[in-house]
Amino acid sequence: MARVLITGGAGFLGSHLSELMLSRGHEVVCMDNFITGDPANIAHLLGRPDFTFIKHDVTNFIYVAGPLDFILHFASPASPIDYLQLPIQTLKVGSLGTHKVLGLAKAKGAVFLLASTSEVYGDPLIHPQREDYWGNVNPVGPRGVYDEAKRFAEAMTMAYHRFHGVQTRIVRIFNTYGPRMRLNDGRALPAFMGQALRGEDVTVFGDGSQTRSFCYVSDLCEGIYRLMLSNEVMPVNIGNPTEITIREFAERVVKMVGSSVKVVFRPLPEDDPKVRQPDITRARAILGWEAQVCLEEGLAWTLEDFRRRIAGGA
Ligand code: NAD
Ligand code: UDP
Repeated sequence: MARVLITGGAGFLGSHLSELMLSRGHEVVCMDNFITGDPANIAHLLGRPDFTFIKHDVTNFIYVAGPLDFILHFASPASPIDYLQLPIQTLKVGSLGTHKVLGLAKAKGAVFLLASTSEVYGDPLIHPQREDYWGNVNPVGPRGVYDEAKRFAEAMTMAYHRFHGVQTRIVRIFNTYGPRMRLNDGRALPAFMGQALRGEDVTVFGDGSQTRSFCYVSDLCEGIYRLMLSNEVMPVNIGNPTEITIREFAERVVKMVGSSVKVVFRPLPEDDPKVRQPDITRARAILGWEAQVCLEEGLAWTLEDFRRRIAGGA
């Protein structure tokens, strides 16, 4: 069984990945500075002998006692409002943080896996997005801090692989949703579900014709687990290819909540990608992976968690 460090482990994805690793018999060291994460996400894991938490900002020198077999680098603000409010921290964690974590992987002889993103494709000019597409990113726009940090992180990862021989993996994660998303992180699902549950108007940006493809969190974690255990060095898209317009997505969420709230339209944020859908040919071929959970089922499970938290005063 392996010892796995997860940076950003107290975040939405990091906490689900921690649970997956523990359930497969691995030991988890979770590192986070709570800048966008929440101690509540890992409260149920504290006290287990196979789970350790270290509060630390990964842009500073990292010390972890003992061996590490795998390092999953997930630390980074991830929602558009988070990286708009934390532009410097976002750039630092993608650059300085990735450098520090790669240095740790080299020192420990660990396999390093980078959480990259479909945002490296920017506002894509090819559709669906394949891994060999280099993207259409505005470096000086508001989203540039996140997109360019992740693009730099990918380049740094490949440099550590090519120059230092570190075993590396890069997952390009497409929009993922599920329980524990922060209610106020501004992403489409928490915004729509939170608004519908509170009886507020649901705010669709632009005319809602932009598309996304939403993947349930357990599917994503399984794909990442398989990539971690594979030998694949080049980037792999992980996401659910079922594409939907944001307007239709908002309507589906409102219907699922059973609310009578209205959908209202607000200005489209700058550089908001018009389309997004993963081409998962490589994930299918290399990892034997594809999403199993349909939107109906995933939304129902997420709704249960949102109802409980909102009823509890969140
Ligand atoms: P999240 O905000 O819930 O989790 C990120 C975690 O990283 C938080 O707990 C935060 O406190 C921590 N963190 C940030 N900067 C840090 C630092 N300097 N030192 C230590 N910890 C730090 O977001 P998430 O949705 O779970 O995203 C996790 C990762 O996955 C991110 O790298 C993100 O870019 C990537 N990703 C997520 C999605 C998605 O749909 N959720 C899509 C593409 C990529
Ligand atoms: N969106 C919206 N209303 C909201 C939040 C988001 O219409 O209250 C739109 C946003 O403009 C984008 C899509 O939903 O087109 C997905 O946004 P999200 O922030 O979830 O992720 P992105 O894919 O843009 O990073």
